[in-house]
Amino acid sequence: MTSELRMHCAIPPYILEDLLGSDDGEVRQAALNSLLTTARLRGERTVLAAFPGAATPGNGRRTVFDCRNGTDLALAVLARSEDGQPSTDGAANRAFDALGRTRDFFQQVFARNSVDGQGMRLDGYVHYDEKYNNAFWDGREMCFGDGDGIIFSDLTGSLSVIAHELAHGVTEHTAGLAYRDQSGALNESMSDVFGTLVEQWTLHQTAEQSDWLIGREVFTPKVQKDALRSMKAPGHAWARDPQPDHMSHYVHMSGDHGGVHYNSGIPNKAFYLTASAIGGYAWEAPGMIWYEALKASNSETRFQEFADTTYQKAGDLYGDGGTPQQAVLGAWQQVGITLTGIPAGVAKEQGRTVGESGDAGRQDSVAVARQVQTLTGRVQELSDDVAMLKGRMAGSR
Ligand SMILES: [Zn+2]
Repeated sequence: MTSELRMHCAIPPYILEDLLGSDDGEVRQAALNSLLTTARLRGERTVLAAFPGAATPGNGRRTVFDCRNGTDLALAVLARSEDGQPSTDGAANRAFDALGRTRDFFQQVFARNSVDGQGMRLDGYVHYDEKYNNAFWDGREMCFGDGDGIIFSDLTGSLSVIAHELAHGVTEHTAGLAYRDQSGALNESMSDVFGTLVEQWTLHQTAEQSDWLIGREVFTPKVQKDALRSMKAPGHAWARDPQPDHMSHYVHMSGDHGGVHYNSGIPNKAFYLTASAIGGYAWEAPGMIWYEALKASNSETRFQEFADTTYQKAGDLYGDGGTPQQAVLGAWQQVGITLTGIPAGVAKEQGRTVGESGDAGRQDSVAVARQVQTLTGRVQELSDDVAMLKGRMAGSR
C-alpha cells in the first residue's frame, strides 16, 4: 500500500518549545538543537518516503545500532542483533528489549506479525545525535536520543514511549489515519493505547493497577512532571499539560497538525474509561475492540465514526448489549461523544468530503496528485518550523 510515511517524534513539540524559554542556557540550547535536528530530518524523511520499499521483511528480527552521537545512520555500528550476545551498553539492551516486547505483544495478543503484519524487521539506533531530546519512528527505523540529562533522560528508558512509536507503524499499515486534526489525534491516541497496553501486558497489570501514564521515564528526577501524558487524567500529567479530556474542551489550532498531541486526550480518556468499566486486563476485550476498530477505519476517520465503530465491534466480538458494549457506550458519553449507532459503512460516507472518497479503485493520477500535495505540505511544514525557530531564537536572545 502507499501508506503515508511520516516521522513520529516521542516528545510533543509543545514540551520542547516550552523549554526554549528556560532560564538554563544549557536546557535552551539542547531544546533548540533538538527542534532544529527534527525539522531538518522531517525534510529528509519526506524525500525518503517518496520512494517505495521502506519495509523489509525479516520475521520481526531486531538489530540495534550505535550512532555514537552522530546523525548519519550509515555510520552507526552494530550494537546487538537477534542472535548475538547482550551489549555492554545499557541503552542498546533497553532498546532491544523494548522492540522485542512490542513485537511479542502484537504477535501474542493480536496475532500480528510485526509492525506491518508481514514480519517487518525492527531496527533501532541508539545514541542518536548529542543530547538529542527525542526519539522517533520514521517508517523504517527507530532512533533514540540520549536526552540532555537535565530535563530529559535517555529515551530508551520508556517502554510505553517506544511501543507508542512503533504503534504509529501499525496505524500506518492499517487505517493509515491522516496525521492532522481529528484523524491525527486518533492516530496519536491509538499509539498511546498500544503504548500503555504493551507496558501493562509486560508488567501483567490490570486496568486498576496501571497508572495509565505515557512516558513516565523520559524526564529526569529533577523535573516536576509525572509523564508526557496521562490517559486516566488528560491535562494532569504535569502543571501545564494542555490535553483536554472532553469534547467541550476540544483544542482548535493550526500548530501541531491541528493539535494532534492535544486532542488525543479525548479518545485516550474514552479508552481508559472503557477498560476501567470492563475491568481486568485492558489488552483483552478493550484492546481487541480498539484494534478491530482501527483496522475498520480509514485515513479520514474522525472521533464520531471511530466511536461508533468501537461500539459495533464490541457487539460483534462480545455480544450486543453485553458488558463491553455498554462500557464503550458509557465511556464515549463521558467524553462528550454520543454514539449514533449508524453502521460504520454509512457513517464513513457522511464523514467524507468530495474528492477524498475512497480507497478502492483510486486512480493512479489521483494518487500521484495526492503525493505531490503531501510533499508540498511537508515542505510548507518545514519552512514553518524553521521560521518558528528563527523567531524563537531571536526572541530568546
Ligand atoms: Zn506519536
